[in-house]
Amino acid sequence: MSKWQFTKGLHEIGNGCWAYLLPDGSWGWNNTGLVTDGDSALLVDTLFDLKLTAEMLAEMRAAIPAAAEIDVLVNTHADGDHTFGNQLVEGARIIATQGTVDDFDRFDPAVLAKICANAEDYGVAGAFMKECFRPFDFSGITLTPPNEVFTGNLTVMVGEKKVELIEVGPAHSLGDALIHVPEDKVVYTGDILFTEGTPIAWYGPLARWIKACDTLLDMDVDTIVAGHGPISTKDDVRRMRDYLIYVTEQARSRYDAGMDYLSAAHDIDLGEYRDWNDAERVIVTVQTLYDDFDNAPERPTRAPIPYFAEMKALRDKLGRGPVHEAYCKAHGIDH
Ligand SMILES: [Zn+2]
Repeated sequence: MSKWQFTKGLHEIGNGCWAYLLPDGSWGWNNTGLVTDGDSALLVDTLFDLKLTAEMLAEMRAAIPAAAEIDVLVNTHADGDHTFGNQLVEGARIIATQGTVDDFDRFDPAVLAKICANAEDYGVAGAFMKECFRPFDFSGITLTPPNEVFTGNLTVMVGEKKVELIEVGPAHSLGDALIHVPEDKVVYTGDILFTEGTPIAWYGPLARWIKACDTLLDMDVDTIVAGHGPISTKDDVRRMRDYLIYVTEQARSRYDAGMDYLSAAHDIDLGEYRDWNDAERVIVTVQTLYDDFDNAPERPTRAPIPYFAEMKALRDKLGRGPVHEAYCKAHGIDH
């Protein structure tokens, strides 16, 4: 059993490293990290809206003097659940990969707010996006992109402590990076790791994501903070790597047999992975795999919204209840 509780809020990993967790890790509920030394602080990612991010920063500042002024914010990738709170980390250097900068406006908070407010205009996709994003408030968000960019690896000093930023994307997104604190044996993975939830490959290639898992498995680390889900171990990385390999093999045989991606995603027996949170994400991952298999010189850019209609249909077929059902009941939010 893990020594960590999967509870909302700040968890002290030790030696100035922290994780901030948002159960249950489903759509929009992600994790962040804080690395401190002396009075220096580096924040890994923000949260999906201003209220959540402000609450997180207040909790950090109440517990950790170095968090009073955050010197560096690193975005592991561009997805809104990891970046929409950026504007509240005032005065910080905001660092990310070039791929993350290029990917930054893929999810615009104003567009999300509009879809959630007028869901019926967007058919099944709108209804499912509203279901996935209804706990969040996208008002007041100004997209605040990185102001420093790197490719490959970058070392950032936090006080006397070395923090290594390691580009491993494109994989989950166009610009994924791992944040490794070698002397504390801690790594923050962003969405290269989903624990107890289904990963989603918005970009691929999947082979590169599997390689990123190998990079994690080769690291001398004791504590792995996933992008979504509880504080993790290498066993969790292995399990998710096995899923990516399994889905790759299953999709490949169907691609070779001439089946289209959507039929393939419905046809794959998810077996032991069927009960993971948000199993419907396999649709996006299979489409990305089909792009990998096509090996086209230019990877097509795909709009995310239509996927939500397709994912809703598969979710229903798998007999899963509404997303965030328990949360919405507890907080009096309408479905
Ligand atoms: Zn995420």
